[in-house]
Amino acid sequence: MAEIYHDSDADLGVLEDQTIALVGYGNQGRSQALNLRDSGLNVIVGNIEDHAGAAAKEDGFPTSDIADACKQADVVMLLIPDEAMPEVFKTDVAPNLAPGNLVVFASGYNIAFDLIMPPAYVDVTLVAPRMIGVGVRENFLSGAGFPSFVSVHHEATGNAKARMLAIAKGIGSTRAGCIEMSMHDEATLDLFTEQAFGPAFGRVLMTAIELLVEAGYPPEAVLLELYLSGEFAYAFEQMREVGMMKQMDFHSRTSQYGTVTRGARFMALSEPIKEKMSEVLEEIRSGSFADEWSKQQPTAVALFEKIREARDNMPMAKWDAVARTAFKIGNAG
Ligand code: NDP
Repeated sequence: MAEIYHDSDADLGVLEDQTIALVGYGNQGRSQALNLRDSGLNVIVGNIEDHAGAAAKEDGFPTSDIADACKQADVVMLLIPDEAMPEVFKTDVAPNLAPGNLVVFASGYNIAFDLIMPPAYVDVTLVAPRMIGVGVRENFLSGAGFPSFVSVHHEATGNAKARMLAIAKGIGSTRAGCIEMSMHDEATLDLFTEQAFGPAFGRVLMTAIELLVEAGYPPEAVLLELYLSGEFAYAFEQMREVGMMKQMDFHSRTSQYGTVTRGARFMALSEPIKEKMSEVLEEIRSGSFADEWSKQQPTAVALFEKIREARDNMPMAKWDAVARTAFKIGNAG
């Protein structure tokens, strides 16, 4: 079992006299900054002078440009998009780090794939929430907290772990629990979910839609049945609440009988799916995905834009828009 840390393992006191600079005030930055301040810590915000910087000022934080915030800080938390981070780190962060500072990453990506190499005289840790930014704030306010992956990547002061856990406590994460996980493993799990589990799941959904529409069922009804009604999403929520198997008890007996008797037929698909998933996992682990996305940005971005355009022109996107309007779902209502 990996080590799991809770509130009782962390002491906010180790950050009492330290200044924490949040670099970036977006999804994670804003929520983490507000949580840390509510936990009684001394927070400043470093941002380029535009709308996010203005929002930080409006929320009452001392703000400055990134370089200046890093110069004032004992702890630097990097909360800007991963693809922008290496350049910002090189030009604004690294030159302003002092020996004994702590650098906190919310994602292992740039360290795992050698895109950022911090100097040896600073502590480097991971505090990666398993929660979107809005949830980081909401779950702090409700008292529930949220889980994170944490680890010490590099120890310079002998105090890295204590400071990392204090940050995790300050943002509200040790209330739920923080699991120890290396930067490389965190990045790999995250990318695998995005690149293998998500697309494989999406392919199954698309196959069911294609089959039912080809069989003559109205697209709007098919989408409503498969995901728009929220019934399936609710079953997923229940998996989290009561467990993957136990949630089946919430479905009718007809549903349960059909699921278990017919479900066995799809088992043969496991091996080919596993084979494709292994290919994706290997590309992530070897760093070849990171090379493609981070080191060949112009080519990768051009391909990304092309695929995005094709995606938005699929018949499925039009059916989705029609059904969403008809049933007044989400932002179409
Ligand atoms: P955002 O996209 O929300 O970051 C926006 C912030 O970054 C804004 O302050 C923006 O400034 C600033 N920014 C954008 N581009 C640049 C640039 N080129 N130079 C300097 N500043 C820039 O990021 P997230 O909060 O989504 O992600 C931050 C970190 O948290 C990442 O490491 C991510 O992997 C991790 N993470 C994110 C999660 C999520 O749910 N989003 C979940 C867990 C971890 P402005 O708007 O003023 O331009």
